[in-house]
Amino acid sequence: MPLYLAGSIVASRDQPYGDDDPQVTYASEISDLTHLTEEALQDPGLADVPTNYVDLLGALLSFQGVEIWGEQLDGLNNEEYEVPCPSCSAENFIAFGEYGFFSTTDSMYMEPSTTARQVPLRPQTPAALDGLAQTLYSRALADGQPDIARKFTYVFGNAQCAECDAVFSVEKAIVAQWG
Ligand SMILES: [Zn+2]
Repeated sequence: MPLYLAGSIVASRDQPYGDDDPQVTYASEISDLTHLTEEALQDPGLADVPTNYVDLLGALLSFQGVEIWGEQLDGLNNEEYEVPCPSCSAENFIAFGEYGFFSTTDSMYMEPSTTARQVPLRPQTPAALDGLAQTLYSRALADGQPDIARKFTYVFGNAQCAECDAVFSVEKAIVAQWG
């Protein structure tokens, strides 16, 4: 889908067109793309294809100039983010999908043989979400994507480091990792 590609080009930090900010140089084109993506997100057919929905939403964020999330939203499709603990730097896998909702230091946590510790995630209550988190959560619900909305409560919630027990914001760790 060309919209995804356009989104990733706009979000790219390796800008082949020099130092010009695409949000400024291509303002009218990006405005058109934003409109097209908004329309695509309304497509009822997307209800059955949450991964496409997430890709489109990521493209929309890129067109809107939202840093990091335009590119990193696909972690929702992977049902995992890998981030270092802000306290001890241990790599934590934040899993929120078919294997459960937990943090662990074992990259092979999906294997039945894993013995690594898994600490339950602490999702944010929807009423406590604000800013971008609130926008994304509400939008996913309004667009008929309750599973995606639920994932946002984990991505914008807290995790406990499986190594040192420090509790940290998953969102801040993601932003620190890719910002
Ligand atoms: Zn730690």
